[in-house]
Amino acid sequence: WGSDALKRSITILGATGSIGASTLDLIRRNPDVWEVDTLTANCSAEELAKLAREFGAKSAVVGDENCLGNLKAALSGSDIEVAGGAQALCEAAARPVDMSVAAIVGCAGLAPVMAAVERGGTIALANKEALVSAGEVLTAAVAKHSATLLPTDSEHNAIFQCLAGNDLSEVSRITLTASGGPLRTWTQEQLEAATPEQAVAHPNWSMGAKISVDSATMMNKGLEFIEAHHLFPVGLDKLRIVVHPQSVIHSMVEYHDRSTLAQLGPSDMRVPIASCLAWPKRMETPLEPLDLAAIGELTFHPADESRFPATRIAREAIQAGGAAPAILNAANEIAVAAFLAGQIGFMRITAVVEDTLSHYTATAPANLEDVLAIDAEARIRARQSLESHALV
Ligand code: NAD
Ligand code: MG
Repeated sequence: WGSDALKRSITILGATGSIGASTLDLIRRNPDVWEVDTLTANCSAEELAKLAREFGAKSAVVGDENCLGNLKAALSGSDIEVAGGAQALCEAAARPVDMSVAAIVGCAGLAPVMAAVERGGTIALANKEALVSAGEVLTAAVAKHSATLLPTDSEHNAIFQCLAGNDLSEVSRITLTASGGPLRTWTQEQLEAATPEQAVAHPNWSMGAKISVDSATMMNKGLEFIEAHHLFPVGLDKLRIVVHPQSVIHSMVEYHDRSTLAQLGPSDMRVPIASCLAWPKRMETPLEPLDLAAIGELTFHPADESRFPATRIAREAIQAGGAAPAILNAANEIAVAAFLAGQIGFMRITAVVEDTLSHYTATAPANLEDVLAIDAEARIRARQSLESHALV
């Protein structure tokens, strides 16, 4: 790996985030392999400009048009192209590169992912919300344009590795492991009073704020259940979730002969990201080897859906299909933002999602525009649901 004479070009959508930083760390260690084409951010213009200069990017794009002035100022005197706005993000994603890393958080990343898919690109997909919202619309576009989706989410990357060389028809079960999040052992009463600081303090993983809250509510695992259904269509009855607090086994695939393959590794996103960057080969990462004797024990528990209803809500949404997963995702994004802003209590996050799902239905989306329209309407309904309840 990395011995090709030609450098490989790469674009990182969401370069200033946690996944973006992990990706850039690997690129920084392999300067002879990668050539950075485009880096994007939402609004952190100074940070984006600094990265664009460091990596010699050809272009830098902010999703928020209001931040373009700052980006221009921060990159003045350089020959790096700058642009801003939602359309500019899609144009950036459509530029031909060897690899696109989709690391924007939320449904905001969907249109750029679709743009990369439509040019038949190879996409390392961390942005699970894009796949949850667009589901069949996105997987159909991947097939139509012969794009390649490399799962970057650690569980899905583990499954992808465990499936290597095997047919999906030979799979009897896929097990997604869940750490259980920072509030795993909390009682219902304690959960009601959980603060944003407590919810984002994950014991095993260091991540962006939104996914950290999703991990605490277990909605992250709910979104991943839907993500797994689209990436590995073995049937919903063959997908399981098991709580595994050590986060050493990242997921497992069981075959008809009762042989189960698991992928183990340090809980550091640079491992699955490296697996995508080097695919189908392997590259070195700076991580310590796994010391199983020091870890000592790997434990497994069923998920408790009475304290953490999110996995049940997500399972019901994908069973219902159609617009439900897009509504679930949009309502969750609104509820998580409200929780982080101190507007609602922790247990109201999943309550708002369930309330929105029960009051808003829409016909199944047929294309990207439909998905974005459902997403927009579901956000309005979720805000109404927030306001209709006392702030607890
Ligand atoms: P983050 O909040 O740290 O970073 C998000 C990035 O997206 C930033 O660069 C930000 O500027 C950009 N962004 C945010 N809103 C945007 C918008 N409206 N338009 C354009 N750009 C926008 O998030 P993260 O933790 O890096 O997660 C990114 C994605 O990867 C999420 O979908 C998350 O679920 C997934 N993921 C993350 C981890 C992890 O360990 N962090 C693990 C698995 C999957
Ligand atoms: Mg994950």
